[in-house]
Amino acid sequence: MPSPDGMTSEGCRAGRPDHHLLEGMPTVKVKVDSERCQGHTLCAINAPHAFELSDIDGHATPAFDSVPADQQEQVREAVRSCPERAISLS
Ligand code: SF4
Repeated sequence: MPSPDGMTSEGCRAGRPDHHLLEGMPTVKVKVDSERCQGHTLCAINAPHAFELSDIDGHATPAFDSVPADQQEQVREAVRSCPERAISLS
């Protein structure tokens, strides 16, 4: 039976896609403009868990829609590092 904080006997809120989001943190969504992305891979260097790279051309796609709170600063650094300004947050 889950406790009031969402913990279960199996661990933290198993089965909830947003279970790494911290309570009270604003939701941040990340997108990569596939027309702008040139496959520099700098985003994945700055936020290795937040982006998946194509094996063919290195183009990036977000690994998730909503950024977990503990990765938001890394993703913001990825936005700053992208030379094509292909990454946007909302
Ligand atoms: S740094 Fe920018 S251009 Fe380079 S792979 Fe990442 S999103 Fe694409």
